[in-house]
Amino acid sequence: MSQSDPRRAIPRTDSVLAQAPFVDAARRLGRTTVRAAVAVAQERAREGEIAPDEVAATALATLPLRASSLTPVLNATGVVVHTNLGRAPLSSSAIEAVMDACGYVDVEMDLPSGRRSSRGVGAVEALTTAVPGAGGALAVNNGAAALVLATTALAAGREVVISRGEMVEIGDGFRLPDLIASTGARLREVGTTNRTHLRDYTDAIGRETGCVLKVHPSNFRIDGFVSGVGLEELRGLTRPDGTPVPVVADIGSGLLAPDPALPDEPDAATSLRHGANLVTASGDKLLGGPQAGLLLGDAELVEHLRRHPLARALRVDKLTLAALEATVRGGATPVSDSLHADADDLRERAERLAARLEREVVAVRGRVGGGGGPGVPLPGWAVEVPEAAVARLRDPRDGMPVVLARVDDGRGLLDLRCVPPEQDEDLETATRAALAEIGAPEP
Ligand SMILES: *Cc1c(COP(=O)(O)O)cnc(C)c1O
Repeated sequence: MSQSDPRRAIPRTDSVLAQAPFVDAARRLGRTTVRAAVAVAQERAREGEIAPDEVAATALATLPLRASSLTPVLNATGVVVHTNLGRAPLSSSAIEAVMDACGYVDVEMDLPSGRRSSRGVGAVEALTTAVPGAGGALAVNNGAAALVLATTALAAGREVVISRGEMVEIGDGFRLPDLIASTGARLREVGTTNRTHLRDYTDAIGRETGCVLKVHPSNFRIDGFVSGVGLEELRGLTRPDGTPVPVVADIGSGLLAPDPALPDEPDAATSLRHGANLVTASGDKLLGGPQAGLLLGDAELVEHLRRHPLARALRVDKLTLAALEATVRGGATPVSDSLHADADDLRERAERLAARLEREVVAVRGRVGGGGGPGVPLPGWAVEVPEAAVARLRDPRDGMPVVLARVDDGRGLLDLRCVPPEQDEDLETATRAALAEIGAPEP
């Protein structure tokens, strides 16, 4: 290499790593990753592919923006509880609570006495306060885990009595009957797909009965010649020896109290009042909190579940407990805001956005999603864009917000229901860029 060889100008690794953006990137991504990116850029400079003074910028451009590969997405699909997008966005109070819980926290300690305490008492108290009929509460990993814990503790080696009309698949091929069978409980199916009567249950109950399970068939509806048995009728059933049969209600989406906007959606308080001994539900569907499974009901029954060895394997971490407690204690969540968004407000926002982008607005129907309220229409408004823009909007480009839009009948639609109003501008920026990239014709 001669004195005048441009390769002599290639910056040294240490001097690149000392630059502020690289110090920052190393904190986020680790020094090894950053060093490797610099080495690749230096090699390219040696090969003459880039100029020596482009090494730093080239290396930086190859580094991911975030330490996690999970990319924030603007949900313009109109589907409120979107399972592929992480279901419920956390409320600001839940986010604050999670931040506070990131370090050392008293999750299992009573600070005044310095003694060990029961884990997550705050979340339990919040839940039992919010659901008056619940003597006890327990949070586990998710709704499926809640169901597994309940059926294992109550019916492993025995029978779970369940209506054939409630043998549901919850998504991605997961079937509740398979889940229950995996616990070692036997399914005792009663009734038919469309009709089940009280005598079907009473005929099936015997010495082997562990519990009766009622499952809310959240993601579908059958109409016509149908009948089922309500919780009120199942209350007080006993085995031949006179012992009471616990009734477990899997309500699914996790409303703690009734929501008039969702008249067919069961809630925990009503289910307990109507005779369920235990309710299981998800934390990240209509409750609008973190992924969790909730178990609410008779104090003794919940204590029995808490002490079951499986409970230890299904327990949630401090971050979930923090977010769950804050969600239950707090007021509105992004899920409830989106669900109850006013159609006129949505129209106003859509028209403003459409005017700026020179597009049209369209009346649309949003969806509850997450297997909830399948028949509930959510009237709203969307901005129409060419279908080709939808893929561009989904593509993470530097610094540009990623947007998930929906496609309907060959049109791209930006439904504002689940976009926080303060992010309308981000949506506009991303859409403007996407439209420019595809060379969108004027509407
Ligand atoms: C969603 C759902 C579940 C599963 O809950 P996850 O939190 O997804 O594990 C179980 N039962 C019903 C009725 C549901 O709707």
